[in-house]
Amino acid sequence: MIFGKTLNKYYKKYFHMFALGLITLIIVDYVQLEIPNYIGSLIDELKTQSINQAGILEYIVDISIFVVIIIIGRFAWRLLIFGASRKVDYGIRNEMFAHAEQLDAEFYSEHKTGGLMAYFTNDLESVRRAVGPGMIMLVDALFLGGLAFYHMFNLDVLLTLFAGIPLIFIAFFGAVMGRKLRNKFKKAQHAFEELSDFTNENLSGIGVVKAFVKERTEINEFLKANEYAKDKNIDFVRIQAKLQVTITVIVSTVFVVILGYGGYLVQSTAGLPAEDQFTIGNLSTFILLFNALVWPMRALGMIINVRSRGKGSLQRIDYVLNQPIGVKDSEHTVDVDEIKGNITFNNLTFQYPDATEPVLENINFEIKQGEMVGVLGKTGSGKTSILDLLLRIYNIDKGQIFIDGIDIMDLPIKKVRNSIGYVPQDGFLFSDSISNNIAFGCRRDEEYFLQIQEAAKLSDVHDNITEFKHGYDTVIGERGVTLSGGQKQRLSIARALIKNPPILILDDSVSAVDTKTEETILSNLRSIRNNKTTILIAHRISTIKDADKIILVEDGKVVDVGTHEELEERSEFYRDLVYRQRLEDEIEVSK
Ligand code: ADP
Repeated sequence: MIFGKTLNKYYKKYFHMFALGLITLIIVDYVQLEIPNYIGSLIDELKTQSINQAGILEYIVDISIFVVIIIIGRFAWRLLIFGASRKVDYGIRNEMFAHAEQLDAEFYSEHKTGGLMAYFTNDLESVRRAVGPGMIMLVDALFLGGLAFYHMFNLDVLLTLFAGIPLIFIAFFGAVMGRKLRNKFKKAQHAFEELSDFTNENLSGIGVVKAFVKERTEINEFLKANEYAKDKNIDFVRIQAKLQVTITVIVSTVFVVILGYGGYLVQSTAGLPAEDQFTIGNLSTFILLFNALVWPMRALGMIINVRSRGKGSLQRIDYVLNQPIGVKDSEHTVDVDEIKGNITFNNLTFQYPDATEPVLENINFEIKQGEMVGVLGKTGSGKTSILDLLLRIYNIDKGQIFIDGIDIMDLPIKKVRNSIGYVPQDGFLFSDSISNNIAFGCRRDEEYFLQIQEAAKLSDVHDNITEFKHGYDTVIGERGVTLSGGQKQRLSIARALIKNPPILILDDSVSAVDTKTEETILSNLRSIRNNKTTILIAHRISTIKDADKIILVEDGKVVDVGTHEELEERSEFYRDLVYRQRLEDEIEVSK
């Protein structure tokens, strides 16, 4: 049994289950230790032939009643205590996932997802074991162990001391090993985390691994990581084994002592008056009691192990749960009914948390509701960073970005993100049906299937979808069809369009489609978004040349803002981009 802020509230919540379970467990423990007495008496009465058939039958009935109580009781406490510990596990898992969903980009750039999975699996499992089984071990060690000792003391003090002294060794040895165990466990867990990371990343990128014929290298890397994890686990198991073996040796030795000294007692007291005799029945009772004591003794050793693991894991879980949510609503949020889509960047300078210099400097521009705006610049110039800030992925200083005249830092984050339809560069799609992927960000009302189709038509992917055997029910990803880059992009455009948001952002989202499809999508956008803001990030001139205005970004700075014609006339940089693009296109055509 372990405690901690994260756990205590669950002990409170499921107190009735734990309490009832513990009461049942204690009753079972008590009844269990009544049986040796009965058996001892029966043996003695049989030996002195002072019992008849009816008497034996009575013993059998009594013992059977005890056995039935034990069976029902064991069933009940298992259901109650193990059930409650499963509920704790369920609760903490939900808490962790909910928290993980809220953690910001900074956390995820420091922690890889594969490693985080270990918190959800191994660590939760060891906390659950410390709560449920750990609680049973503790009660059995204390109550069952104590009561067995009490009964044994009543039979013979010296014999009980012989049996009891080794217990102190077990407790002492266990306590010393506990700390070592915890350290080894942490190391093993950490190694497992790294291994999960490696496996996750490698299998996700299996295509690249194969394309570069790096399978052997990766297998060797895996071997190394796996061997390290194995060694750390073996270190842990070695200490665990030492602990268990020591306990077994002690227990077996005590058995020999009991048989030896107990046998001597039986012989030497044989001639004494009946009440002073240590009878064969007494010795049998004693052996049965000691037998019942073996589990609490082992439990005592195991508690240390289970508690050490559980505590280590709880610390790791707390670490995740205590991660501050960096990006959250300010204390004085201004709630607005509706966002219209006017955007102002006012002298914005931004540096990534782990970077040494700003990625964006003195950015100024304005976008009015209903405008279609292009953001053009070379790769790495800072275009995505500008949009990440508009999505409130990172915190910025106040007074730098305004939506409808309100400081973005004062708007509720949910409102901001709900008002933006975002088509990310990588167009991540879930391993789910096409319709569920498109409908990801929208409410599922009665007409949502029509809306899905409408969005798919607008992003020019409807015809592709209907060509699939299962149409909109086609599952994408690992267990389904593999889509082309262009199809993925168009699906993620549909996913953003279905929200019909006041602000739509396409981050280089038509780069993988041909120019004709691009033209169709853009003209569709123009027709449906006449009153709504649309921002197109692009590195291809064709994507943005008809935009109301183009924001030219270079090296983290806005170098010019104007229409295609204006920029062609006055911007050397723009003309250069147009020229290069034309050359690229010509090379492409002549290929
Ligand atoms: P673009 O979209 O124009 O290709 P980005 O905005 O993606 O450019 O990147 C601009 C610069 O910011 C790049 O040098 C990139 O390496 C850096 N950058 C992007 N994301 C992060 C991050 N999370 N932490 C630190 N630097 C980053």
